[in-house]
Amino acid sequence: MTVIDPVAALAELAPVGADPVRGGWSRHLLDDADRGMRAWFVRTAESLGLAVETDANANQWATWAPAGATGKALATGSHLDSVPGGGPLDGPLGVVSALAAVSRLMAEGHAPARPIRVANFAEEEGARFGVPCLGSQLLAGELDTGRVRDLADASGATYADVMTAAGYDPGAIGRDEPRLRGIAAYVELHIEQGRQLEPLGTPVGLATSILAHGRWRLTVTGRGDHAGATELDSRRDPMVVAAEVVLAARDRAVAADPATRSRATVGKQRIVPGGSNAIASQVTLWLDARAEHDVDVRALVDAILTDAANAAAAEGCDVEVAEESFSTRVAFDAALTDAMDDALGGVPRIPTGAGHDAGILSAHLPAAMIFVRNPDGVSHSPHEGASDEDIRAGADALTTVLRALT
Ligand SMILES: [Zn+2]
Repeated sequence: MTVIDPVAALAELAPVGADPVRGGWSRHLLDDADRGMRAWFVRTAESLGLAVETDANANQWATWAPAGATGKALATGSHLDSVPGGGPLDGPLGVVSALAAVSRLMAEGHAPARPIRVANFAEEEGARFGVPCLGSQLLAGELDTGRVRDLADASGATYADVMTAAGYDPGAIGRDEPRLRGIAAYVELHIEQGRQLEPLGTPVGLATSILAHGRWRLTVTGRGDHAGATELDSRRDPMVVAAEVVLAARDRAVAADPATRSRATVGKQRIVPGGSNAIASQVTLWLDARAEHDVDVRALVDAILTDAANAAAAEGCDVEVAEESFSTRVAFDAALTDAMDDALGGVPRIPTGAGHDAGILSAHLPAAMIFVRNPDGVSHSPHEGASDEDIRAGADALTTVLRALT
């Protein structure tokens, strides 16, 4: 019986989608790298004798259902796609650990009372079509399928085109009732995003919740003019307002009650016309705001938007605000998490600021997460990492949990 070592499996995946320009790895829905990852999933799962299938939403599933395993499955897994130039573990660690755990349970002769199903969720990062957790959201029926079919990637290819070219029927995407009904619970192992486990001195923790979060677009309009000929007191410069919004985002998050875990970021802006010797006419900024509870996010964003309105008024500019998305706080299943904690003998519980497929599924079935220590806390970067020892400790923990829950 083959036992999969998660460190060796990750080494096997290292050449797939390595990005020579950005560094790190770029693996996006159904591109060459993603297909390479998917082929590895099929090959590895089949080498264990698992039954592999791909659903209409391009999620992959590998099921272990030996004699005596009946009823709904316990699902585990994560995603094999990445952000552009991402790290080696965000996603793959959970899939690799799931297959490693199944291989170990097989080797030790564990007889599960229910099937165990390993998932690779499609386009979790949303890097190709802009919608995060695309595969799990489609599975759960949380997206307008018509709108999804029309999403376009950077080259202009639509989701429907890409799915058709890969042999899928884009007309068949959407909520998959039988598949959801066939899952009793979902447990996702993931590299920690942030640095909470390192100071606690422990390789593994359990997730309590995902911060409430949203994205707002601010369009600040002023008056474009000459950078040399326009007197300072007659300018209406939207860049000045944008700068104040960037600072307000940080200052308001810093000033919030630390218990709210508030954070606000402007990571993207578009400047029109964008000439080095021209006062801009318009600046668009994207504000990402997160906090423990929905009301904390609302209070944080209200404060930042008030600052933005005041800054715009002082500069003679207009500001328009659009809410692009809002995701309510996710609390993971307490009974499931308690059962996992019992099996693991008591480990720390930590919240997370990042979205996950487990968060999407938690609205539909019991879901929980295991985090593996990330010593520097770096995420969505080639510098993300975990020690080999901790990677193996994570797979050990998942094995323990699957053994206890099946
Ligand atoms: Zn991830």
